Amino acid sequence: MSLWSEHVHNSLKSILLTQEQIEHRISQLACQINKDYASLTDDLVVIGVLRGSILFMSELIKQLDVPLVIDFLAAASYGKGVSSSGNVRITKDTFIDIKDKHVLVVEDIVDTGITLSKVLQMLQLRGPLSLKLCTLLSKPSRRQIEIPVDYCGFEVPDVFVVGYGLDFADKYRHLPFIGVLKDNMYS
Ligand code: 5GP
Repeated sequence: MSLWSEHVHNSLKSILLTQEQIEHRISQLACQINKDYASLTDDLVVIGVLRGSILFMSELIKQLDVPLVIDFLAAASYGKGVSSSGNVRITKDTFIDIKDKHVLVVEDIVDTGITLSKVLQMLQLRGPLSLKLCTLLSKPSRRQIEIPVDYCGFEVPDVFVVGYGLDFADKYRHLPFIGVLKDNMYS
């Protein structure tokens, strides 16, 4: 076992979702999105929320059978801890003009809903034709602001997860599965 694998093994309580489970679910989401946007003639603007959405977004868009363009924005609300500061900053904005475009926002996880509510509010003001949200994970029990989730991969319990794009202190994003971090890693 490599030093890194050993570290991962010691840092995680359990594996919540395997790579196979995640990829199977992403295919299902892509199928649904392909159906919903089947009549699209103009480009769908797919906006990934950096950095957590990168693995999910790249797997998803490979399977989308509609004309699309991609863009990214970054929002920061967490420091090095594991709970939202509630203070959302847009640290990188999109390049593409979304006025009169169909827009699909892709996120790693909706937790309290604070980040996405701010992001969606900001995008809505730019006059898109439609604005939908696709998230890999959702923690409904933690929601403080209700936001419409159009496509959701998995509902997960109130645990801190890492992998498949999700980090702890900027690490673990490249794990191909989703695991639950041991409490002693952040307490
Ligand atoms: P919200 O504003 O909905 O509370 O938080 C959204 C952001 O918090 C997500 O984009 C993600 O970066 C982070 N987050 C929330 N829950 C988790 C979690 O369980 N694990 C990780 N790694 N990040 C989380």
